[in-house]
Amino acid sequence: MSAVIIDGKKVAAEMREKLAKEIEGLKAKGITPGLAVVLVGENPASKKYVASKEKTCGELGIKSLGYKMPETISQAELIKLIDDLNANPEVHGILVQLPLPKGLDSKAVMNRISPAKDVDGFGPDALGKLVLDEPGFVPCTPHGAMKMLESYGIDPAGKHAVVVGRSIIVGKPLAMLLLRKNATVTICHSRTRDLKAECLRADILCAAVGKARMITGDMVKEGAAVIDIGINVTPEGKIVGDVDFDAAKERAGHITPVPGGAGPMTIAMLMYNTVLSAKMSAGLALDF
Ligand code: NDP
Repeated sequence: MSAVIIDGKKVAAEMREKLAKEIEGLKAKGITPGLAVVLVGENPASKKYVASKEKTCGELGIKSLGYKMPETISQAELIKLIDDLNANPEVHGILVQLPLPKGLDSKAVMNRISPAKDVDGFGPDALGKLVLDEPGFVPCTPHGAMKMLESYGIDPAGKHAVVVGRSIIVGKPLAMLLLRKNATVTICHSRTRDLKAECLRADILCAAVGKARMITGDMVKEGAAVIDIGINVTPEGKIVGDVDFDAAKERAGHITPVPGGAGPMTIAMLMYNTVLSAKMSAGLALDF
């Protein structure tokens, strides 16, 4: 049996279509959603991510305000920029592309972003709301993973979900979202004793580790839904996930490819949060 491939590009395109309609409605009310994107230094991967976020903003009609700052920027100057963006009514979302160059305190910078504009959802307010099951900005990558499951009719309720990785930006929030949808959730990490045994219990297996193809085919339960968040570059220059896709697809029921799975969804959900923020600023809600 070969798995159904979860097409993240298609799900992301559907999400963008819905958002475009919302943006039209907002513009008719005189509101243009605005996203400030702060890039510090010359990290090539960061530059690439920022460029694709700005491109998607342009396609959707979200106003993208780019702030390309030199690596020599001081902590105080960066904090001042965040304060200015917090106060700017044109800006509904603030994104600081991570990692920041050495010498800058990322945590202090991220925590300075107003909770009302924290469209990455990494700040304490957003993460607290996630745990409290209150509405708020959900981190984009895990939110995208949930939307892919939903789009393919995979209901986590009552299922055993295993999340490999416990970072603040992916693993932990994804586990919370699966729990919110009534899955029984196991979180694995570098100290987990028998990773294979844990993975084999998963009806929904999510990998967010950052190690090329570390989830081998024999770690996947027959029929499981596999969500691969990892982005890794092989020595040959190929982009692969944390899951050995070719082997895993022979056992899984559903599987996301890399590229073309979690990646496109992450950007779509950033746009979602920006539109959500613009709607909230006008006292409106977003209901999808
Ligand atoms: P982090 O490095 O912050 O976290 C990695 C996690 O993997 C840690 O919790 C770590 O455990 C765990 N881990 C490491 N080695 C093992 C192991 N041998 N067995 C089990 N668990 C292990 O990574 P991120 O969460 O930031 O990112 C994970 C991956 O997702 C990366 O490839 C990244 O590029 C990708 N990513 C993709 C995005 C997208 O848009 N598609 C967005 C964000 C990330 P411990 O806590 O014990 O150290």
